[in-house]
Amino acid sequence: MARVQAEVETHYRSPLVETIRANGNILNIGNTTVRLAKEFGFCYGVERAIDLAYAARRVFSDKRVFLLGEIIHNPEVNRQLTEMGIVSIPVGSHEEEVAKLTSEDVVIVPAFGAETNLMKLISSRGCMVVDTTCGDVMSVWKRVRGYAKGGFTSIIHGKASHEETRATSSRAMGDDGNGHYLVILTLADVDFVCDYIRKGGDREAFLKRFSAASACSAGFDPDLHLQRIGVANQTTMLKSETEEIQRRLKKAIEDRDHGSAENFQVFDTICGATQDRQDGLFHLLKQPLDMLLVVGGYNSSNTTHLVEIGEQQLPTFFIRTADCLQNLEQIVHFDLHLKTEKTSYSGKLADTSSPIVIGITAGASCPNNLIEDTILRVFALRGVSSDEVRRAAGI
Ligand code: SF4
Repeated sequence: MARVQAEVETHYRSPLVETIRANGNILNIGNTTVRLAKEFGFCYGVERAIDLAYAARRVFSDKRVFLLGEIIHNPEVNRQLTEMGIVSIPVGSHEEEVAKLTSEDVVIVPAFGAETNLMKLISSRGCMVVDTTCGDVMSVWKRVRGYAKGGFTSIIHGKASHEETRATSSRAMGDDGNGHYLVILTLADVDFVCDYIRKGGDREAFLKRFSAASACSAGFDPDLHLQRIGVANQTTMLKSETEEIQRRLKKAIEDRDHGSAENFQVFDTICGATQDRQDGLFHLLKQPLDMLLVVGGYNSSNTTHLVEIGEQQLPTFFIRTADCLQNLEQIVHFDLHLKTEKTSYSGKLADTSSPIVIGITAGASCPNNLIEDTILRVFALRGVSSDEVRRAAGI
């Protein structure tokens, strides 16, 4: 395992980032300053998942090794695994493709986990399983199984189509498969559900809204299955929003049940790594900054929430890699509201005669080498070479 970890480190570590971190998370050269968040990048769950995937490739060098979807939501990391000969099975065709595997094949389960039915199918094919599911995700599963056992419907704050939430939803059915779940994403969703809890309403409209998005269990009946609810969340949600959702649902149950919260349970399942990265960004935003770069995969949930936090305060650009900083006048970045990549201009970055302070952070699925590339690119655009950056950092 030590050899594997060393190999992973050579792919993803960055002496430059480590040095800046050790020196107070700040690097100033001329009129350009970069400030890093206190916490960003790979979390323990992601590191473990990648280590295990590398180890699987090495240990089963003579076998076909498959991966369910993506190991984590970062295109660079997934590309690296593909180059090593690990074959990703696209999310939409898991059942179909797994059904073709044999006992000679190896299947890697990603850090998000996988649905119970899929795990049973893999087991029935006799495949060898390398399960990299993060312990924090498994804690959520334990919680929702407990809800089902106690007769509570799980209300899961998350994105119904996200791998982790799909895996959690399947556990919310309970060990006997008779449990129920409802996935809510927005505050509008929670208000809709709260109204139904308080006053009942149009059952068909309710089912249309949630079943169309595969956001409720088969046979879900809002007249029956909102009587007793337990709240959990995808581990990577925005803390403040999750707390608000918990508060509104509790109030709705109390309003319906004459002040009693007996039919309500809650457990905050946001993981420590997500929380640390959100807290690290809040801390960074207390410093004077001109713009913020958030680096990571566009489909990464925890990275997306960092962008939401930044956007409330200053010009924020969600970039996949350093290449998105195309030149001084063109930044290619993902617009969360339009849900598409676009190109924007930052007068502050382009004006090389004026000082600029750029904040940089990244979600739990972003390796340090991509942060290093971004730092070097920022300085290069401002006329500072890589060698000068390394010298200034003391490397
Ligand atoms: S973001 Fe949290 S739940 Fe996901 S892998 Fe990292 S530690 Fe685990």
